[in-house]
Amino acid sequence: MRTIHLLDPRLANQIAAGEVVERPASVVKELLENALDAGASQIQVDVEQGGVRLVRVRDNGGGIRQQELPLALSRHATSKIHEAEDLEAIGSLGFRGEALAAISSVSRLTLTSCSGDEGAASVRVEGRDMAPVIQPAAHPQGTTVEMRDLFFNTPARRRFLRTEKTEFGHLEEVFRRIALSEFGTGFQLSHNQKVTLQLLAARDAAARAQRVARLCGAAFIEQSVPVDVEASGLRLHGWVGLPTFSRAQADLQYFYVNGRVIRDKVVNHAVRQAYSDVMYHGRHAAYVLFLELDPALVDVNVHPTKHEVRFREQRMVHDFLFRALHREVAALKPGQAPAPEV
Ligand code: ADP
Ligand code: MG
Repeated sequence: MRTIHLLDPRLANQIAAGEVVERPASVVKELLENALDAGASQIQVDVEQGGVRLVRVRDNGGGIRQQELPLALSRHATSKIHEAEDLEAIGSLGFRGEALAAISSVSRLTLTSCSGDEGAASVRVEGRDMAPVIQPAAHPQGTTVEMRDLFFNTPARRRFLRTEKTEFGHLEEVFRRIALSEFGTGFQLSHNQKVTLQLLAARDAAARAQRVARLCGAAFIEQSVPVDVEASGLRLHGWVGLPTFSRAQADLQYFYVNGRVIRDKVVNHAVRQAYSDVMYHGRHAAYVLFLELDPALVDVNVHPTKHEVRFREQRMVHDFLFRALHREVAALKPGQAPAPEV
């Protein structure tokens, strides 16, 4: 008979990492979300070799207290929720306390931070072989997470990585999506020491439209209209593409729920229906849309990557989206009968 034993915590992290860390792009997603949760107004991302060799995310957010640095790397350690009730209404992007533990179990990771009340410090871990040690460091208010050599200790995972160009493509797409979600924050992305994207904090409508143009193309912003509709506690705002700007692929569809980019059947259906009168079969609408609603009305704890959500009142959300968009879209087409009032 074999004995049953508890897995070494870092091995357990490595196994769990499979759910959260698929490629460099997933690392960037998690680190950007942490920076935004920390209230950063400026975030800089530097990557090398498509992110496999290096992903470094630096922010000017609230920081982490020295003595909590090792804890930040532990699994199930989070400052974002405390008790079961908190799960009912999640207001932050993170809450599972898994990302840093997962990433640090499959890379060489240095976490450096300054929380303002005390000097800066850093901790460093390599794969699963080291306990983190706190060391003094130099860092302004905020946090830098430096991840090197992704999957250096898990060759089987490393083999699934694609070329530098492909990995950077995925990473850039994640960066783009998150940069679209937080207009008030400035972002910079560099690859192999070259700045590839620089976005200043957007403070007014014109600057926001400019950011959308940078990230989605000037043609999109020229051929779309801004929307902002509010009804029964739900608000939908953003930009919807003109029917003439339809695309062969569903590649310019960004939908955010409370700042989190998501994919959802209910949303897709509502949007497709709203466009159905004006869009040729097989063509896809382009949009950047933000839905805001009471966090208690949406469950984000559906999947570790949090790309999916569950609306507590699907029907209501569907009907709100359909009505709001149908009215806008119908108005875009001359001769179309206006939709009933919301
Ligand atoms: P989660 O985001 O789900 O809480 P993470 O593993 O991503 O879990 O992070 C663990 C904790 O470390 C966070 O709850 C937060 O307190 C802290 N942390 C991580 N990144 C940052 C950051 N950039 N700025 C401030 N605190 C951070
Ligand atoms: Mg997180």
